Amino acid sequence: MKVCPEGLYVEPGGFYVDPVRPVERAVITHGHSDHARPGHANVLATSGTLAIMRQRLGEGAGGAQQALEYGEAIRIGDVTVRLAPAGHVLGSAQVVLEYNGSRVVVSGDYKRTFDRTCAPFEPVPCDVFITEATFGLPVFRHPPDLGEVRKLIHSLEIFPERSHVVGVYALGKCQRLITLLRAAGYDRPIYLHGALEPICKLYEGFGIALGELRPATVAVKEELKGALVMAPPGAVADRWARRLTDPVVAMASGWMRVRQRARQRGVELPLVISDHADWDELTQTLEDVGAPEVWVTHGREEALVHHATQRGIRARALALVGFEEEGA
Ligand SMILES: [Zn+2]
Ligand SMILES: [Zn+2]
Repeated sequence: MKVCPEGLYVEPGGFYVDPVRPVERAVITHGHSDHARPGHANVLATSGTLAIMRQRLGEGAGGAQQALEYGEAIRIGDVTVRLAPAGHVLGSAQVVLEYNGSRVVVSGDYKRTFDRTCAPFEPVPCDVFITEATFGLPVFRHPPDLGEVRKLIHSLEIFPERSHVVGVYALGKCQRLITLLRAAGYDRPIYLHGALEPICKLYEGFGIALGELRPATVAVKEELKGALVMAPPGAVADRWARRLTDPVVAMASGWMRVRQRARQRGVELPLVISDHADWDELTQTLEDVGAPEVWVTHGREEALVHHATQRGIRARALALVGFEEEGA
């Protein structure tokens, strides 16, 4: 296992995991743009991730695409490769690598919270665990997601005249928030910015029920009064949302925990809903996989390295370039 400019390289297999530059052979953990880059010659991923890549990248999704479902094993070079659910977004996987009697697991992005839109994270005991650490500080503790969703439903009830525009990442957060709203009993139509529609259709194609969705045509202002509108985070801040009548601006993200971020983005109703493990989930996962060696990447490495070291785990920070988080 080597860190190259292209990304994490598995030498005895001759392939990369989530490389940031086009390579001959790539294993992709999930469809977010910081992991699924265009232009690889051969791509191995779950069928969910491949479908997402084809939709988002078109031709760039990869020359030859091979689907590997959770639990199936394949041999690449001298390495046995398996994918295990990561609980992050539809199709998201950890990469389980076996070579010479030892097992390395690359977590990709993951969370432990229950999410109706994807298979739950499966801890895989291993010798080396390479973990993300997007929210790798003890201050990050995500509140229960249904509580956050109830705040949104409550606001819709007390401001029945105002549109509620919720900023959500197109892949994952949008669909999870919709299923949470449905689970909390919100059964009115949900209006979608055009950029969110294709991925919702894709999720529905994979059997995730989202209830009634309608296009948020800003022209039909009357219809959007008191309605719930979802849009990408960028659109929420710009003129698109301001054309609505006196909207309540909300945003669903793990970063909403940081009040200053919410204020900077003009968010009136911050919803702390994250698709990444919080501090407790990260440390619990280190226990669950029981790896004597941990590499920490992709976020706030130092605190988790420190925590692991104190528990007698050999730990180090792995500097991987090119991960500007999408969908936190
Ligand atoms: Zn991700
Ligand atoms: Zn990521």
